[in-house]
Amino acid sequence: MAPVFRMLRQLSVQVSRCRAASRLMSSHTAAAADTEAQDGNRVLFPPLQSYSDEERMMRDTVRRFAQERLAPLVSKMDENSKMDPEVIDALFKQGLMGLEVPLEYNGTGSTFFSSMLVIEELAKVDPSVAVLCDIQNTLINILMLELGTDEQKNQYLPRLCSDMVGSFCLSEAGSGSDAFSLKTRAEKHKDFYIINGSKMWISNAEQAGVFLVMANVDPGAGYRGITCFIVDRDTEGLHIGRKENKLGLRASSTCPLSFENVKVHESCILGKLGQGYKYAIGMLNGGRIGIAAQMVGLAQGCFDHAVPYTRERVQFGKRIFDFQGMQHQVAQVATQIEAARLLTYNAARLKEAGRPFIKEACMAKYYSSEVATLTTSKCIEWMGGVGFTKDYPIEKYYRDCKIGTIYEGTSNIQLSTMAKIIDQEYDS
Ligand SMILES: Cc1cc2nc3c(=O)[nH]c(=O)nc-3n(C[C@H](O)[C@H](O)[C@H](O)COP(=O)(O)OP(=O)(O)OC[C@H]3O[C@@H](n4cnc5c(N)ncnc54)[C@H](O)[C@@H]3O)c2cc1C
Repeated sequence: MAPVFRMLRQLSVQVSRCRAASRLMSSHTAAAADTEAQDGNRVLFPPLQSYSDEERMMRDTVRRFAQERLAPLVSKMDENSKMDPEVIDALFKQGLMGLEVPLEYNGTGSTFFSSMLVIEELAKVDPSVAVLCDIQNTLINILMLELGTDEQKNQYLPRLCSDMVGSFCLSEAGSGSDAFSLKTRAEKHKDFYIINGSKMWISNAEQAGVFLVMANVDPGAGYRGITCFIVDRDTEGLHIGRKENKLGLRASSTCPLSFENVKVHESCILGKLGQGYKYAIGMLNGGRIGIAAQMVGLAQGCFDHAVPYTRERVQFGKRIFDFQGMQHQVAQVATQIEAARLLTYNAARLKEAGRPFIKEACMAKYYSSEVATLTTSKCIEWMGGVGFTKDYPIEKYYRDCKIGTIYEGTSNIQLSTMAKIIDQEYDS
């Protein structure tokens, strides 16, 4: 498997060169294998489900990896509420934890769209593993890559690509949807900042070696005081609490954090003082497409388990798939998964092309999480009693999907953001 990713890296170098030549053309480059064709005067655009050679190879390799390496561990990890360290190790070894990070930092040098395909493929088998990979790639690495000083990038990026998990710390007990009313405070003392406060719901905190922490340096300035700090796990005063006992995504750790006089040097500020809110909004806009990809993968994975069952199970002398009442439901769900995938791919392609994508990202996340909820519920029904047991993986998908409507902005928050943009669109 590893040599394939080395090949991918070499391919990525070529793709990066093309991209440098013309950023505008990047979405076309991404779809190079199915490039737009010229038919007389008409330009034929590739369908949304077109992939470059690199993307197709990445998707197929991760699909195999998930089937061969993850699938046998999923049920045990869920039961034990614990990610197998070998899984995390394998994700690093396969280059899946530094997908968009350039080769010079030991990354895979791939694209945002490829990351979405990776998240989708992992989520088909285990959404907990997908979210680990998603947060590392869409939030942590990108924040570091886009905002880090040379020193910060040299210190953290090679580790984030090879053996260090990162956590994104924004939410607090009193500030979830209203994230920028956060109370964690960072006070300046000479060249240092002293952080006090607490965070809730921090994904991957059990494994993380570094935490990107949003804290306010000037509460008088409101959200304009919010600043992003890099805090190493072993920093004195940082306590990682007991992980939450959750309905789903049980193998993914979610912990509270507390900061008691955590002293960090001012060189640990990521980006600019007081700009943390902007960075968080920016990252979460892209991150939402990652959650949409996770929900599409989850729905497809569940569907792929349930449909074969309906083709084998016999009642009233025929396959239950042959009843029209079943067929219509199966076709409806397949349509909805397809629509969710197209929304997600479109948002990802828009982002990669440097075009506005916020409304489309919200639509993709909102719709994909609705579709995942509907799909998993229907799949249980299609399997009857056995769908309700732990002998089949369907009930786990049903539990795992619910988070899609909550994290990285609840469904209501996605709808509000969409409505705000729609309102602005009608201004002109
Ligand atoms: C498993 C898990 C992992 C997470 N990982 C992370 C992480 O890694 N880092 C991190 O920082 N956070 C993380 N979170 C936190 C997550 O982002 C928040 O839970 C989420 O933003 C919702 O906040 P809340 O739980 O406080 O709900 P609330 O904000 O209290 O919302 C409760 C309900 O009120 C509704 N509501 C609130 N405000 C409005 C409004 N203005 N209009 C309409 N409806 C509204 C919401 O839609 C929701 O239905 C995680 C959460 C979970 C459960």
